[in-house]
Amino acid sequence: MILRKPFLSECTLDAPAGPLYFIRLPYLETMKPSPAPPTLRLRVTPAAETKIRQGHPWVFDGSVRAQNRPGVDGELAAVFDRHDQFLAVGLYDAHSPIRLRVLHHGKPARIDAAWFAENLARSLSARAGLADAATDGLRLVNGENDHWPGLVLDRYADVLVLKIYTAAWFPRLPLLVNLLNARLPHRAIVLRHSRNIRHDEYRDGMTLSGPPVTAPVIFHEHGLKFHADVACGQKTGFFLDQRDNRRRVGQLAAGRAVLNVFSHTGGFSLHAARGGARAVTSVDLSPRALAELRDNWRLNVGDATVRACPHEEIQADAFDWLARERRRYSLIILDPPSLARREADRPAALRAYQRLARAGLRLLADGGILVCASCTAHINAEEFINTIRATVTASGKPMRELALTAHAPDHPVTVRELAYLKAVFLQHRAPLS
Ligand code: SAH
Repeated sequence: MILRKPFLSECTLDAPAGPLYFIRLPYLETMKPSPAPPTLRLRVTPAAETKIRQGHPWVFDGSVRAQNRPGVDGELAAVFDRHDQFLAVGLYDAHSPIRLRVLHHGKPARIDAAWFAENLARSLSARAGLADAATDGLRLVNGENDHWPGLVLDRYADVLVLKIYTAAWFPRLPLLVNLLNARLPHRAIVLRHSRNIRHDEYRDGMTLSGPPVTAPVIFHEHGLKFHADVACGQKTGFFLDQRDNRRRVGQLAAGRAVLNVFSHTGGFSLHAARGGARAVTSVDLSPRALAELRDNWRLNVGDATVRACPHEEIQADAFDWLARERRRYSLIILDPPSLARREADRPAALRAYQRLARAGLRLLADGGILVCASCTAHINAEEFINTIRATVTASGKPMRELALTAHAPDHPVTVRELAYLKAVFLQHRAPLS
């Protein structure tokens, strides 16, 4: 329903940076020439009001009860409650079921360049001291969890990668580029966007600022070197969220025969090798990921421990390969891609985790360590851990839990539903001899 008159309350909001279309509604025609239509205002269901007050960052299309005019992708919209009290302001997305992504809730605020600058400063200061001197690949902005809904900013050495998950950010890219140019030293800014959004001018992988980035960027993680394919790689070019788990694997690897399943470009494999693994086997379905793993291995042969570590790479479907494999390993990492796209895929995903853990337990040598990770957002940490525990119990193998872990701290989770990464480190209790 379109409201025929503006809401009563006023909120102090700037006109959006993007173009606004003039909407011919009766009440607008009675207002003498106006340079821009009034602020877009939404009323939402009582349930959505409660969620916004609790800090939830999304308003779904089905929760919008009324608006004063049609909205345009990327413009600011304010939400008011039943009593015309300001609730929140966010980015409107006419084409997404997430109709509004909240930038700010609570007291009315002016959302302008200064607000975005302050928001960035908050995100950066929250990461002060998080990276050690030997790490220059870091998430600087973690979307909704940092009050940047639908936007991620990663740094790989001197290259910034801005990834957007909603078309609502397109009109604000010039503002963001100015902000990053002013606040963060860098060689270039690369734009990535999720597959479901399109723009004629802003293509996925293009360089927004600085000389075009056409080759993978070399960055450091705890002293190891990696390539990040910032223009075409998965996510923003690397799985930064697993950084702390990779370091932990490195610390546990000395003298062990390591199996890294779903190895991707070799993050866990290289940490294990540098940690003194006796040998490393990496398994992935993607020849491209394995080629990148080889490149990453070459980057690190200057390290004598990596150079001395035998490495075998296997291109195979992990489920089939694990079922056939007969050798034993003393450190096994199972880090599959997300296994459920929709809620309906959950039972199958849980069965797949069970299958993987069962295979891992079967291949585990006495005293061996098994690391089971899950990045499936539709499965929460409790369900995942319970599935792994039940599989361990059914196997009859005595295992003790060394650690339950989540995202690295540069990926803070303030919105519970947006937590996706969980991992459990288990060690076999070898019988006393
Ligand atoms: N552990 C990695 C990230 C894993 S991403 C890291 O730290 O960087 C998931 C990987 O699983 C991808 O490389 C993908 O190619 C691979 N993959 C997906 N399905 C697979 C399958 N059925 N068998 C083996 N590998 C698979």
